[in-house]
Amino acid sequence: MIILETLFGSKAPDKYELLRNYYGHMSFRQGQEALIDNIMAGNDAVGIMPTGGGKSVCYQIPALMMDGITIVVSPLVSLMNDQVAALKTMGIRGAYINSSLTFPQLLKVYDRMKTGEYRIIYVAPERLASEGFLAALSYQKVSMVAVDEAHCISQWGNDFRPSYLRISEFIDFLPERPVVAAFTATATDEVRNDIIRLLKLKDPHVEITGYDRKNLYFDVIRPKNKLKELFSLLNERRDKSGIIYCSTRKSVEEIAAALEARGYASTCYHAGMEQEERQRNQDDFQYDRKRVMVATNAFGMGIDKSNVSYVIHYNMPKSIEAYYQEAGRAGRDGEEAECIMMFSKRDVQIAEYFIENPEENEELTEEQQEAVKQMNIKRLHAMLGYVGTRDCFRGKLLEYFGEKHPPFCGKCGNCGTDFKEQDITKEAQMLLSCVKRAHTLLGYYVGENLIVNTVFGSRLSRLKELGLDTITTYAVGKNYPLEYLREVCDYLISLGYLKVNEHKGIELTEKSGTVLFGKKKLNMKVRADTKRVIHVTRESTANTKNMFEVLRQARFNLSLKEHVPAYIILTDAVLNEIAIKEPQNMDELLQIPGIGKTKANKYGKAFLDAIKTAKENQKS
Ligand code: ADP
Ligand code: MG
Ligand code: ZN
Repeated sequence: MIILETLFGSKAPDKYELLRNYYGHMSFRQGQEALIDNIMAGNDAVGIMPTGGGKSVCYQIPALMMDGITIVVSPLVSLMNDQVAALKTMGIRGAYINSSLTFPQLLKVYDRMKTGEYRIIYVAPERLASEGFLAALSYQKVSMVAVDEAHCISQWGNDFRPSYLRISEFIDFLPERPVVAAFTATATDEVRNDIIRLLKLKDPHVEITGYDRKNLYFDVIRPKNKLKELFSLLNERRDKSGIIYCSTRKSVEEIAAALEARGYASTCYHAGMEQEERQRNQDDFQYDRKRVMVATNAFGMGIDKSNVSYVIHYNMPKSIEAYYQEAGRAGRDGEEAECIMMFSKRDVQIAEYFIENPEENEELTEEQQEAVKQMNIKRLHAMLGYVGTRDCFRGKLLEYFGEKHPPFCGKCGNCGTDFKEQDITKEAQMLLSCVKRAHTLLGYYVGENLIVNTVFGSRLSRLKELGLDTITTYAVGKNYPLEYLREVCDYLISLGYLKVNEHKGIELTEKSGTVLFGKKKLNMKVRADTKRVIHVTRESTANTKNMFEVLRQARFNLSLKEHVPAYIILTDAVLNEIAIKEPQNMDELLQIPGIGKTKANKYGKAFLDAIKTAKENQKS
């Protein structure tokens, strides 16, 4: 309270002032204002915004404007600790209550709660029912309960947390019902309805903002050798921070070891590691001590390191929801960033394995488990639709979330690629005919892999065993690359000229004949150029690049002194602006978006001094 009064005098601050002075942002982003206004009017609210969309501001600003205390329920310890640290750098007193506190620390927080020192308290859901917490809370009016990552309440989501189901009990327990607001990036109807129902929201204002993340570049590539491709991608991005997602713990460990052997400043994270090691590795990444994080999807929710400039998926994830959330961890600072997925057929098998062998979930009945499985199969198919599309990747993602989009975005692998229409009738006939002859020989339909290899003329021992090297279509396609034949075969399946049966064999369909007997010609779009360009240039001229480095060093020193991650002090985007504008004094510094009064007071001098020294060095 003290700080608020010194900043604004006795007049209650309005939301614009708060946004400018605390956060240093010049204007609200889409959806933020409507959510804040509704909460301030006493309405319950649901905010559905993509990762990086700016959900925190939507409950933090009301928290600062209301009397009493705001409780923020949040699923992850690291997330909470980071958010509270971020508030602190802005001059806002908050606290967190979770397992990372020692008992004496916990008592101290409770004491301060009683005297009304905090405006915002982050709490882990399983702590809501604890006696000490409830007792400390009884001294204050709770004006709002904000539920962050609210999709955790739904069993339909990927991150179901049973403890989230207790939130509404907690709210019922309070003497006066506070405003309840829920936030998530998950947009599906099932999840949204679960949130409203299970949190018992009263006629909430639902705000769904656009899903497009304009600064992200999307691509899917199919390298022959993933590891080799990974190294070449990383080489082009040496000075940048990025995440590499793998689908299994084993591949995380293998890739992390390979990177380390080659001298990359990398670290890794998966759920099988000791808690302590995980925390250490996560910190190394957050604090920029290590530039590359190799991880399973266990690393993620609640990671809001803002200067992640690429997310590479080493394997295809199991759904578009999961992909968009993980890829969305790139470019939170609004800077250009890349999302690249590496795809191979093996990824489909891995994804299918996970669907067939789900983690135990005792809270679901057998029937529900079956429903979840069916839904996961649907999701996988949608993911495959994305991977295989020759249309705009961004458009395909937005379409999945039910959003309209132009046919070309100009900023994805497909929009940046020249496709040429190619006549594939001959290749298609070879494949269809091979399916037919293999069936005649064996009496059953074999899988895609065997068909493609037969047409190509591989020396696989399995082909010999089955006698497939004796049929007339063996090696008729020896002049085409194997992967190309596979692509044509996939294409035939997608158009219904072939179908996959329950034994994974591929069969002819009624449509096959028209192509097989030459009545119909088939075209397919193929990538004309496969060379990729790097789309991200963060620092522009040599001069600003040097200045950026100087500022980065200054920020690093501050981060050591203050024990907060560098990006919480200032993001790369803001640092970049400073490097370009080279402010000479406090007033000029305050003009830069992203610098609030508190930050300027706290850190401004360090940056101004660094600029001055650098300029003097330039002259001499
Ligand atoms: P989310 O929780 O929705 O993933 P965050 O609340 O962590 O997103 O915000 C992501 C980033 O966007 C942060 O760096 C934050 O400072 C920035 N941001 C939020 N609101 C604005 C705004 N109105 N203008 C500029 N940047 C903003
Ligand atoms: Mg968030
Ligand atoms: Zn596009």
